[in-house]
Amino acid sequence: MYTYNKLYINGDWQLPNTEDTIDVINPANSELCAKTPSASIADVDKAIAAAKYAFAQWSATTPAERSQLITAIADEMQNRIDDFASAISTSMGCPKHLAFDIQVQGAIDAFRGYADMTSYVDESSTEHGVMQCHSAVGVCVLINPWNYPLSQLVGKIGPALATGCTIVAKPAEQTPLQDLILAEIFDKVGVLAGVFNVITGYGFKIGEHLCSHPDVDMVSFTGSTGAGIKVAQAASTTVKRVCQELGGKSPFIITDDADLAAAVRYGVEDVMINSGQTCCALTRMLVPESLYQQAIVIAKAVAEENVVGDPQDENVTMGPLSSSLQQKRVLDYINIGIKEGAELVTGGPEIPARLQQGAYVMPTIFTNVTNDMTIAQEEIFGPVLCMIPYSDEQEAIKIANDTVFGLSSGVFAKDANAALQIARKIRAGQSYIQGTYFNSHAPFGGFKQSGNGREWGVEGLREFIEVQSIIIT
Ligand code: NAD
Repeated sequence: MYTYNKLYINGDWQLPNTEDTIDVINPANSELCAKTPSASIADVDKAIAAAKYAFAQWSATTPAERSQLITAIADEMQNRIDDFASAISTSMGCPKHLAFDIQVQGAIDAFRGYADMTSYVDESSTEHGVMQCHSAVGVCVLINPWNYPLSQLVGKIGPALATGCTIVAKPAEQTPLQDLILAEIFDKVGVLAGVFNVITGYGFKIGEHLCSHPDVDMVSFTGSTGAGIKVAQAASTTVKRVCQELGGKSPFIITDDADLAAAVRYGVEDVMINSGQTCCALTRMLVPESLYQQAIVIAKAVAEENVVGDPQDENVTMGPLSSSLQQKRVLDYINIGIKEGAELVTGGPEIPARLQQGAYVMPTIFTNVTNDMTIAQEEIFGPVLCMIPYSDEQEAIKIANDTVFGLSSGVFAKDANAALQIARKIRAGQSYIQGTYFNSHAPFGGFKQSGNGREWGVEGLREFIEVQSIIIT
């Protein structure tokens, strides 16, 4: 049981202005696993004031100073890798032995990379009589979801720290622990007070205030499209920058000359990892009609290789969903799929008796899905794959683009060049070709209703920069 009764504000652990708390429930067994403060508006104001005050000094530090600090923080994160993996596994259900890799180590490595990007803000260029300079954007509110809570946090604090911005972080209420561990690390390393503040609280309670506050210069938000719209609306009254990283319903096109077994295995594994709670998951698998039955057999076998169960068990490949609420949401979608005429080849709404105590959903595959069905149009955010047949490449691309989302996509063709030609025709911020994986150098973000920002890579850094033009001649 983790108990935090204070918030990290202005380089200090401060008692909140309220006695309200948030219960964090372990989704594997429905037991209470942590308690944190449920921050009040007054706490938010304190954190923003601290970040505002610290900005002048922090943004005037040298790239070398910021680089050293980022490295020192990354070193301490490495020392606490087990704490991060345990906290994330306990609060959101990712099997602990997988959490080391997919939730924590990659995040630490990616964060460390920002130590090499601290000089970008100081770079300038002169052309046509104009000197173009960069400035840090200012006080940044960082709001995150619960599915990859550390990775999403470092994807925001990395560029914020590298460019000299100050931070008020608000983790998802379901997964606050990694932010609080990180606050302990900032405290230990000795980062200037006010640079990093953590507010644990409910989005519905403090979200609007965080986003509309006049002393906040930017909101970087990752979460659902619905909450992202509310964030943008709240931020609009003070005309601040808003970076939205939202939902997806990403297509995966397999061509008729691809290695079918490799492609289908990749596609199924991509959807099932993290119990299907990955925003860029390739949840619509588009398969040539002629290979559809063959693909179904392979997909079913791969999905059923999963061992679903206790996240502390080393043999388990799939833990519960992050909460009973998320479980209900996913089961509701599965029932809608059945009602609309899709066929289940594995999984479904039944949960084995041994898993009844947690928020489990079995790996589920639907066939005979048409792209107009609810399960093909709406983000389910669970271990549910829709297999959709197509007649020719043109139709596959049309189906791929027939969605309000545009976060990610995948193509498996005969070779990389053929896949690239198709990938360029899909309206999505990323495309994974021939079975590639997340790369922290690749700008990440959506087209259409999947968002308007970019994280990671140099594009992710630019989001935290203002451009100033000095007209010389
Ligand atoms: P959510 O939108 O419910 O919550 C995300 C965060 O927003 C939480 O911290 C929550 O407290 C906060 N929030 C909620 N209402 C708010 C408001 N009105 N104002 C300010 N903050 C508010 O999403 P979730 O259920 O936690 O996460 C799942 C969603 O996140 C999925 O839609 C998924 O696709 C998306 N996601 C997107 C990306 C990406 O990079 N595009 C990455 C991961 C997850």
